[in-house]
Amino acid sequence: MTTKLQLFKSFGPFNLVLMLAVVILAGSCKKDEPDVHLCGPWEYEGEFGPEHWGELADPCEEYVHCNGMAQSPIAIDGATVDDNLTALDLHYTTTNTHITHKGHTIEFEVEENNVLKLGGKDYELSQFHFHAQSEHTLQGVPYHMEVHFVHVNDLGDRAVISVMFKDGAANAFLAQVIGNLPNPGGAPYTSTTRFDPSVLFPTTPSADYFTYPGSLTTPNCEENVTWFIYQHPVEASTAQILRFRDLMPRNNRPHAPLNGRTVRVSDL
Ligand SMILES: [Zn+2]
Repeated sequence: MTTKLQLFKSFGPFNLVLMLAVVILAGSCKKDEPDVHLCGPWEYEGEFGPEHWGELADPCEEYVHCNGMAQSPIAIDGATVDDNLTALDLHYTTTNTHITHKGHTIEFEVEENNVLKLGGKDYELSQFHFHAQSEHTLQGVPYHMEVHFVHVNDLGDRAVISVMFKDGAANAFLAQVIGNLPNPGGAPYTSTTRFDPSVLFPTTPSADYFTYPGSLTTPNCEENVTWFIYQHPVEASTAQILRFRDLMPRNNRPHAPLNGRTVRVSDL
């Protein structure tokens, strides 16, 4: 039986030529927009799949982060209760959004200044995007979707708030945009109704969250992310979830080892 790894090795020279061609055509890496992935092709399976992302570091050296010791996502099977963790200090306002199909995900870029205050610093929300099924699992449970709200401070450090979606009642925000999600390669859509991004966050039965130090879950896999993963999921209808799954490839990276990191959980 031929494994994926053997296939990758047997087609290695071809891959190298292809990657060099792509890199020459695409130009240099663009560090502040890892979703653009100008460093070369990557996928969620096969020869450019997650187990090879670190190997794709040659010739695009940034991808070497994917072999790091503090990678994401992880399986959250237990956590240390930390009474010092307070409710997330959100300073959000209403905004319009530009929805773009990025190939590997559907991304909602926000216009206005939405800030998460953390450790005396402002982390500004730049975009949120969808994964199906979830990347993190909570107590062994995978969810139908996971949404990542990516915040960046003025040093380039990131804070990502993550929300799990389970099957249930239709989500009111998704209902406003579901008919206008771009197809792969389709034109972006700009919303006509302003909204507060925190409408997607759970408030019941609590706004408790897990937190741990990790990485981006796509190349370049940079390890400068403080993760905040709400413990309780929100709901979306089966039709809403299936619409996202129809439009996106399976886009959940396999779990990385914890490697001695501590996961803490709030007790709000
Ligand atoms: Zn993500």
